[in-house]
Amino acid sequence: MSGQLFRGFDCDGRTSHKVRTRPMVHRINDFVVDLDKWRDHEAAADFGKWTEANVINKLLASNISHLYCEYCGEKGSETKRSCGMSCYTEFKKAFIPHSGRVIDIKRHSDSEMRYGVFVRPRSKITACEYIGEYLGELVPIGSKTSRYMFQNQSRVFEVDAERKGNWTRFINSHCVPNVKVWSTMCGKRHMLLLQTTRDIEEKEELYISYGRSYFESLGILCCCSAQDEPHLPPLVPTDITDTTDTADTTDATDVTDVTDNTDTTGTTVREDEHE
Ligand SMILES: [Zn+2]
Ligand SMILES: [Zn+2]
Repeated sequence: MSGQLFRGFDCDGRTSHKVRTRPMVHRINDFVVDLDKWRDHEAAADFGKWTEANVINKLLASNISHLYCEYCGEKGSETKRSCGMSCYTEFKKAFIPHSGRVIDIKRHSDSEMRYGVFVRPRSKITACEYIGEYLGELVPIGSKTSRYMFQNQSRVFEVDAERKGNWTRFINSHCVPNVKVWSTMCGKRHMLLLQTTRDIEEKEELYISYGRSYFESLGILCCCSAQDEPHLPPLVPTDITDTTDTADTTDATDVTDVTDNTDTTGTTVREDEHE
């Protein structure tokens, strides 16, 4: 498998090492696709030229007609050519300035097996900031699920970051999250956009809510600090500054997996020294 590994830090924040997980996870800068998973899919008829880039582009543009571009505001059903890849690149440049540069992937002090995403010392992320895009492999809806799958509004594909993803895949779950995930569109591409819901100070951990169904289907309880005892998350995630809902964005919900075993926080990465 091509690609680079992630760099992680121990809980003391000092020692940097390669994050090794099972299965191995590789760092990507854009979506990837396994063509073999799509050959017999009904959507394949629309793919045209059978290249990875072409299939990715077609998938990302599927069923966007009701969505509005986060950058230019044009509706997906508009056929004017003004909205496209330049919107996506300009949006990222203008509104995701950090792009993961102010975070560390750190090993939790309570377990050698568990990683999380933390704001770097002497850095800060302010409220309502876009911090990144959830990336991964585009897999057909109904594929064997992993614990790193995210739904979106395409009705064709889901994003699976189990084996290939960016730093956002390491964010743990909390019942009072400080980051929310939007399923939206930018430059005629579906986008899972991560946005802070409050200021996040240096060394603080970033959290999203995996949703109650995630824990229910795994038969586990959430052990986050929102309650003293292990618990099921509330049916609707608690947002302390939930003022940004609009008609055209919906919270992305994760897909659950019933086969994998996991620790009781429902998180994410286990160390493996023998890959
Ligand atoms: Zn646009
Ligand atoms: Zn919780």
